[in-house]
Amino acid sequence: MKNKVAIVKCDDYNQKNVDSAVREALNLIGGAGKFIKKNNKVLLKVNLLIPSLPENGITTHPAVIKTLGKIVIENGGIPYIGDSSMWQTNEALDVCGVTKVCKELSCAAVNLESYPPKEIYDPQAKILKKMYVSSLVKDVDVLVTVPKLKVHEMMLFTGAVKNMFGTIPGQNKTLMHKKAPNTREFSELLIDLYSNVTPTFALMDGIINVEGSAGVGLTRKIGVILASENSISLDVVASSIIGYAPEILPLNIAAKKRGFSGTNPDEIEIVGEKLKNVKVVEFKKPPSVIPRMLSTPWLNKLNTIINFIRTDSRPVVEKKKCIRCKICENRCPVKAVKVEKYPIFDYNLCIHCFCCCEGCKVGAIKVKASIINQIIMKAIDKMALK
Ligand code: SF4
Ligand code: SF4
Repeated sequence: MKNKVAIVKCDDYNQKNVDSAVREALNLIGGAGKFIKKNNKVLLKVNLLIPSLPENGITTHPAVIKTLGKIVIENGGIPYIGDSSMWQTNEALDVCGVTKVCKELSCAAVNLESYPPKEIYDPQAKILKKMYVSSLVKDVDVLVTVPKLKVHEMMLFTGAVKNMFGTIPGQNKTLMHKKAPNTREFSELLIDLYSNVTPTFALMDGIINVEGSAGVGLTRKIGVILASENSISLDVVASSIIGYAPEILPLNIAAKKRGFSGTNPDEIEIVGEKLKNVKVVEFKKPPSVIPRMLSTPWLNKLNTIINFIRTDSRPVVEKKKCIRCKICENRCPVKAVKVEKYPIFDYNLCIHCFCCCEGCKVGAIKVKASIINQIIMKAIDKMALK
């Protein structure tokens, strides 16, 4: 049987419009009652990357969260809503609008770091045989991934599967980048995690989203709500909307190798709106050549070229924007950033995780690629896209 992915158009965050779109999307995949039973504890694992206002398009919008919270309550469930952010989760809960929504719904806004970590041992895992996740994730009856549709400097795309990374509490997330320093290993690590922390269903906020970066950038209307029981399939559809072919996405490649269902478009049944009606033309992508090359089998073998280009695609600071908060220094997993007057990068140490770009709340760090890099990137995209 094919994996259903629902696409429903939604133009803005007007609460009535969001209510109607989210309900329709869930009905298209069988209805919320299929997943949530009376007295079930339901964790809505939203994306609160950094403390950022909802209109910045980086974090799951509170209107979407509110509708989902209401639906959980209507179905007799007990909602818990939260995340473990890249930094300052408590502040993120407030700034991103979750605390206010939870007050209105009389439910818990949760910092996943405030629950003791639970050890999971998985002998089948490729990178993370032993992993620690917030114990709340394992104590709830229903786990819902509620991601934002975004591009990503390291992984090209971030959606329902990568959203599970926030179940790893606090600074441990940064250490994971050290454990899996390249795109291929990090994809395997994320699939190890997803295999053990698999959402019951996914509901994606693809209404207004940041372009060109997973962190701070300009926003663009995509205008969709997506839902699916299969997070991998949902990501395949979501990434297609912004112009990525599934075969170039490192995370999708890793999932396919492990035999997960729903990595190919022909294993997916789209219900609701047609894909061609919601595709966005030339959605800005970060200039991350390495993941694209690693995901292209024949280029994957050309290590010399990869190594050359690797040193040619790097984080750089826009001095005028920098407020010297030192978040980049504190969050770099390999201590490749030192903030003196401005951040200074040690490119010999840098592992190109781009956590510094994602975590900078004023968008002062960008990925810089040379013109040669950009030409290669465009050529690869052209080859990969249908
Ligand atoms: S680059 Fe960004 S994160 Fe780093 S010190 Fe400046 S403002 Fe802070
Ligand atoms: S400098 Fe930035 S991209 Fe490089 S390893 Fe540190 S956080 Fe990652």
